[in-house]
Order: sequence, then structure tokens, then C-alpha cells
Amino acid sequence: MSTGHLTIDLAALADNWRSLDAKTGVATAAVVKADGYGLGLGPVARTLARAGVRHFFVAIAEEGAELRRALGPGPEISVFSGHMPGDADLLRAHGLTPMINSVDQMLRHVEQLPRHRFGIQLDTGMNRLGMEPAEWAALRDIALRQKPTLIMSHLACADEPWHGMNEHQLHVFKELTDGVDVPRSLAATGGILLGERYHFDLCRPGVGLYGGEPFDEAKAVATLDLPVIQIRDLTPGETVGYGNTWTAARPTRVATVAAGYADGILRGCTGGIALYSGQTACPVVGRVSMDLITADITDLPGDPESLSILNRLQTVDDLADAAGSIGYEILTALGHRYRRSYVE
Ligand SMILES: *Cc1c(COP(=O)(O)O)cnc(C)c1O
Repeated sequence: MSTGHLTIDLAALADNWRSLDAKTGVATAAVVKADGYGLGLGPVARTLARAGVRHFFVAIAEEGAELRRALGPGPEISVFSGHMPGDADLLRAHGLTPMINSVDQMLRHVEQLPRHRFGIQLDTGMNRLGMEPAEWAALRDIALRQKPTLIMSHLACADEPWHGMNEHQLHVFKELTDGVDVPRSLAATGGILLGERYHFDLCRPGVGLYGGEPFDEAKAVATLDLPVIQIRDLTPGETVGYGNTWTAARPTRVATVAAGYADGILRGCTGGIALYSGQTACPVVGRVSMDLITADITDLPGDPESLSILNRLQTVDDLADAAGSIGYEILTALGHRYRRSYVE
């Protein structure tokens, strides 16, 4: 079979949630947007619910509806994009909690779904989602009378602990919300690691659950093994792949495996990554193409049937670094051609 095999370790996922939860004295939610960061919404969310997660966050109402079908009634499901035109039926039918981002969304919400749960998202400087401080000042008393379930904001630079933006946003968030009798949430994975002052009443990690930085104690959740389709011997001076970017300097044995940029192995990540046979690294040579990757296996004692590209030795962040990207992008780009197995 020439499809890669993506193994998702649900026990590692649950362990990562427990260890993030143990870093705070407050409740810990889970962010499962974008199909559980590419690893599969249903299995990911059910595992986290069994581990004790009571509050989930998604990006859009449609994801919330799918999540409700996977989890059934009970867990709180909040939607970062808030209440968009056309969302009312989904929000009502699936008991979703929109994070209201603007006066317009607030008006839409009270008009279309009066007395339906909602939270408030404030912008404390990232300028992406949430009410501006002036908007909040104008709306605050009216909004609070409607009893929001949560007030949240998001940090722009939490993965850089020394960055002055963190203290700045913390200060703004406190100014906007101190004294308000509603649970508050500021920290995602990076914010949890910044320490207690950032934790408020609820933390909402995403990437750390799935084995990504900045949570460097995370266990690897995704491992990816790629079948070898062909092996050949090159004489010195022969080249490999599109654009002849790699030339054999010695007699070289090259293996071709089944995965490429169409499967989320970014074309830019050629330099410095390897395919692994057990603990042995076989450098990737030549360009990553759409469906194929080539690696130098000269130093292996025998011919492998498959080689691993994601494992304990080479993480999503290693692949990302090689491509000038981030672990989040590698995870969410993992392709649909892989055979997927979930292990407990
Ligand atoms: C994606 C997201 C999170 C989770 O962030 P991680 O860095 O993956 O932990 C939390 N809050 C908001 C608003 C987000 O968009």
C-alpha cells in the first residue's frame, strides 16, 4: 500500500492536557478548532472529554455543530468568531456559546437569540478579534445585564515570554475587566506558561495538547510512517529530483517514499530534515515533490520497508523550522491521503 500511516496517540493527548491543567489552579478548557488541529475532531474531543475537559472552543459555528454531534449534550462549546449572520439556527440547535466580538454581533445576538448563552471577546491589542476598549466602554453595562458566561481576550506574543506585549495586554485586560463579576480567560498554551497572573478563571490551550511548542514538555501525539516505493543506487555526480538540487558526492542509495507537499510535508522543508529508520536519520535529498520524498539511505544496514518523518526524534516543530513555519501549520496541513489510526 502506498499511503502513509498517521498514528494519533490519544493517551499522549490526554497526558498533555493533564500536564497543562496541572500547571494552573484554575479550569482548563481545550481548543479543538480546525478539526482538532488536523488530528480529527471526534476522537480528539471524545478523548479530552473523558480526561475531564468540560469546556471546548472552536473557530466557527459549523465546527461547534460537528463537535456537539461528537460529544452529545453537556460540555460547553464556545465559538471564537462569535455570532455571524446565518449562525442563529446552528447556535440554538447545538447549544453553542458565541464569543461576541462587536456591537453589531451583540445586537444580532439579543435580537435573534434572546436569553441564549454568550461570552464576550475583547481586543487587548492583537487587533484581530474582539471589541475595542472604546466599544466595550459603550456596551459594557448593557452587555453585563445580559449575563455573559465568559469574558476573554487573546495574547499576540505569548510564545515569546520576554516580549513586552504580554505585560501590556495583561494590563489592558485587567483594566477592562477588573471588578466585573464574570469568569475571565486570557491564556492559551503560551499564556499558561507565562505564569499565574495570566491564568484568571479559565485557560484554553490548543497546540500544547497536540505536542507542539511552546509547551516543550508535550508528548508527541502524531507520528507518521511513509512506505518506501522504490530504492536505487546512484554513482557520484548523479542528481535527485526536480531542479537537480542535490548531487551525489559518493556512491549513494536513495529511497523514494510516498508523501509530499500535497500531504502537508511543506516543499520548503527539504533542508535539514531526515527520514528515520528506527533511531537512524536518513537525510532528505532533493526537493519535496507533490507525492514523493527522497532520502539518502546509504548508511542503513538493509533496505527499509517504511521510513518515519514524524516521531520523537523529529517533531512537528522540527519540520516547521526547516520550512520557516510553525508546528501549528504542519499539524493542520496533515493530509487526507494518510491511513489514520488512533491508539489509546
Ligand atoms: C487558537 C486559539 C487558542 C489556542 O491557542 P494555542 O496557541 O494553540 O494554545 C486560544 N484562543 C484563541 C482565541 C485562539 O484563536
